[in-house]
Formats: sequence, C-alpha cells, structure tokens
Amino acid sequence: MTATAKSVCIIGAGIGGLTAGALLTKHGFKVTIYEKEHLLGGRALSIDDFTKISEKDYKKLLSQFYMRIAFSEPSLTEIFEKQMLTGYKLDLGYHAIGGGVFSNLNNVLAEFDMHVDFLESYVGFITKTGWQYPFLTRLDKLMILPNIIRLFLANEHTMQELDNVSMTETIKRYGKGKMTLILEIFSRSITTVNNLNRISTGEMFRAQKNLYRGSKPVGYPINGLNSIHSKLSSYILDHGGTIHLNTPVEKIVIENATTKGVKIHNQTHNYDIIISNVMVQELFSLIDENVLPKSYVTAIKQLEGTASLCAYYSLKTMDPALLGKTFHFIERDVGVDGNDAVGMIDFMATDRKAGLSPPDTYLIQSYIICTPQEAKDPQMVKQLRSLLDKNLEKLIPHYIEHLAWALYPVIWHLDGVAKTIQNDKPRIVTPIENLFIIGDCVKAPGIGVNCAINSARILTDKLTKP
Ligand SMILES: Cc1cc2nc3c(=O)[nH]c(=O)nc-3n(C[C@H](O)[C@H](O)[C@H](O)COP(=O)(O)OP(=O)(O)OC[C@H]3O[C@@H](n4cnc5c(N)ncnc54)[C@H](O)[C@@H]3O)c2cc1C
Repeated sequence: MTATAKSVCIIGAGIGGLTAGALLTKHGFKVTIYEKEHLLGGRALSIDDFTKISEKDYKKLLSQFYMRIAFSEPSLTEIFEKQMLTGYKLDLGYHAIGGGVFSNLNNVLAEFDMHVDFLESYVGFITKTGWQYPFLTRLDKLMILPNIIRLFLANEHTMQELDNVSMTETIKRYGKGKMTLILEIFSRSITTVNNLNRISTGEMFRAQKNLYRGSKPVGYPINGLNSIHSKLSSYILDHGGTIHLNTPVEKIVIENATTKGVKIHNQTHNYDIIISNVMVQELFSLIDENVLPKSYVTAIKQLEGTASLCAYYSLKTMDPALLGKTFHFIERDVGVDGNDAVGMIDFMATDRKAGLSPPDTYLIQSYIICTPQEAKDPQMVKQLRSLLDKNLEKLIPHYIEHLAWALYPVIWHLDGVAKTIQNDKPRIVTPIENLFIIGDCVKAPGIGVNCAINSARILTDKLTKP
C-alpha cells in the first residue's frame, strides 16, 4: 500500500472530524467516518427541520450533548404541540464564529473551491441606559490600542511566556479607562470563561490573532451551521470517502502500543490510522486506560470545559436600528466564578438574508458565560436567565409584548477543554502509534469551532508533509 492510499478511520463527524476527513480525502487517504448520532456536526449541529423532530427526540438529542432546555416560553410541550418552531433553524445552542468571512473555516473550504456566506457584525455594547455600536470607535483604536497591539503582534515565543500570565495581571499592567473594559469583556467572550484569574493571556492573544483576518469579528453562516457540514461531507462522499451515521465506535483496538482498528457492533475493522474526534474526556470509554501512561490519563481527566446559558427569542416585530447587530454586556458582582459575567445578544439572524426564521419573525440569539458547575445549578441558571432577559429588555423595552416564543438551552460542555492557565491541553499526537486526537479539546490555535478546524489542519500537515 502506498503512503497516499493509507486507510483512515475518523471517530466522530463533528466539525473537527469532517474537516480532517475532507482534507485527508483531498490528499488521497481512504477516509471512513463513524458518527454515533443520526446527524452531522457534533456540538456544532443545527436542527433545520423541526417538523421531523418530536419534543422527546429534541430533548434526547440535547442530552447526548450535555444540554437541556432550562426554561421556555410557553412550555416546551406547547411549543411542539403548536409547531411553533416550524420554519426555524436552530443550533443545539447559539454559535458565533470568530473571524467571519475570512475565518479559518473559509480558509479550509477554499482548498476545495468552496466557501460559506457569512452574516457579520462589529460588536456593540449594552450600557446602563441603552447601547453603543460599535463598541470600539476609530478614536478608541488610535488612543488606547498601541500597547495592546504590541502584545497582539508578539511572536510565538512571547506568547508562550504569556501563557502563564493571567488576564488579571495583564489588565493591571495595561488597562486604563476604556481599555480595562475592553480587555475584561473580550478576554471573557473569546475564551468563554468569566474568571480573569484563570484566563491565560498568551492563549487569549493567540486566539485573538487567529480571528484577526480583516473581516468583522463576529460571524454566523447564512442558513445555519449545516451549510458547513453539507459542504465538507459532500466533498468527502464525492471523492471516495464514506460516512456512517448512527454508528457508534465501541472500542479502539490497540496491540503493542499501536492502533490496529476499531470495534463496531462487536466486529473489528482494521485501519492504518485512527483519528479520534470525540471529546478527550470520553477517550477512556474507547481505550483501556492501562495502555496509556498514567500521567497522560491523569492529566486528561483533570481537564475542564466551558459552559453557558443560551437564549433564543423569536419576536414578531423589530426595531430596525438593531437589525444585524451584535452586542456584548457585562454584569457585575453576580456571584459567578470571577464575579462578573459576560454575555452576548445577537441580532445577526434578524437580517432577512439569514434564512434562520420564517419571514414574518425575528430570531435573536444570545448567551451568558458560566462554569460547568454553575450550568448544573438550577438557582444559578435562573439568575443567568434573568440577566439575559434584562439585557434584551434594555435593547428592546417591553420585548415580552412582541414575543412569539423563547427557548433557553443550558450547556455544561461547550468547549471540550477551556483555554485556561490550569488546563494543559493534550497534543494531537498521542502516546499510541497511529492514534491521533483532534477537536476543540487539543492544542491548536483558536477557541471552539476555530480550534477544532485548526487541529484538523495541523494533523493533515503532519500526515502529509515529510
Ligand atoms: C451550545 C453551544 C454553543 C457553542 N457556541 C460556540 C461559539 O459561539 N463559538 C465557537 O467557536 N464554538 C462554540 N461552541 C463550541 C463548538 O461547538 C465546539 O468547539 C465544536 O463544535 C467542537 O467540534 P469537535 O469536532 O471538536 O467535537 P464535537 O462537535 O463534539 O464532535 C464529536 C463527534 O463525535 C461523535 N462521537 C462521540 N463518541 C462517538 C463514538 N463512540 N462513535 C462515533 N461518534 C462518536 C459525537 O456524536 C460528535 O458528533 C459551542 C458549543 C455548544 C454546545
């Protein structure tokens, strides 16, 4: 068998698995992807036809991805009975893709002569009495950014030195006036972590650098996240790859510290290379941990992810001034880890070309950051909901009078592994020969979707370049 005809098994059709699948197919590998769910996309999954899904299926799907609907208006049962979600495309929970049009995603798709059309927005700010858009004016950029630009442009060596410096320290050093607020908000929203003591300055600036490709900072694909999966999967299928949905891998077969294949329905299928796209904490349900060094297993088991409460609001009318805009907010002294909580209220989907809601309604997407523990605490989740509602009220007074419905999905495994000082993300190469791990849990630039895509690109380079 020639090097380019090696067989590759990818476990999981998340954005990382699909990106790796498409790139490796392009490089001549024989790719097979196994996905345990009946839909593509993993945590970046959009439900684009609610007529085909019952309330029970919806709840089950959310639970597979560590989520539940914490609240809804009216009740979830009434929403489903009255088919109120027909015509909407909703992710499991709201996504904003950093980097917009020129994101890592379109960079990858360009390799297949494809691209995804994006909605894009600058970031505004919800103030005590109203809103300001954009948050950073041209004058702000001239007056306060030079110091930060120095960090932003710093080389990887400097970034590594900053990896163990908390954002609290960086803000003490560089924060002045509005700069403090900017650093407080953006470092939290980029990492989905509220506690500035835990946010690594190096990781924050690395992620920020990865976003800065000339487009507006926040983006979301027109017609939803499935527009990404359908492109990547069609490339794989049209070029000889295979994707099996509804097919959970039961075990990764390892002999003499080398991968041999995977077990599905108790049968072994052999592959030259195995790539796991599953969340790294779940790796040990597929591999006997005794075949791995103890220190490796212990380190992985300690890794923590991020969490949030999302809210989707469907309104019957809309203030035209808000159409297409995205806003951050910060709530002080609310008792979360880090004390202040950052969130986002996003009107990108209210743009008529978004294709995410029926033409006579306006879909608002939002989230507020919390920790995985806080996401499991009903009292805390209730408080977080009131903060989201309060901020929407500031933008649209009496919004409740225009509400068609609202859903509040809570998630306690948003990023598989948070980019904090405490978390040392594992590398793509594992201690087992021919076994690699990709996705948002591993060391790669960016956060969330960007990290998952970048990990697949790094692995492809590794497997294709001498
Ligand atoms: C509600 C929510 C909001 C988010 N918001 C944002 C955001 O705004 N911006 C952002 O960048 N990121 C966001 N994220 C994070 C982003 O979705 C993830 O970082 C990204 O989708 C991870 O992709 P992945 O390929 O690493 O893994 P996953 O999406 O987890 O894919 C892993 C796949 O493996 C499958 N699988 C697991 N076990 C098996 C098995 N045994 N056999 C076969 N298949 C298996 C799973 O079903 C899944 O499809 C959000 C996540 C959630 C849940």
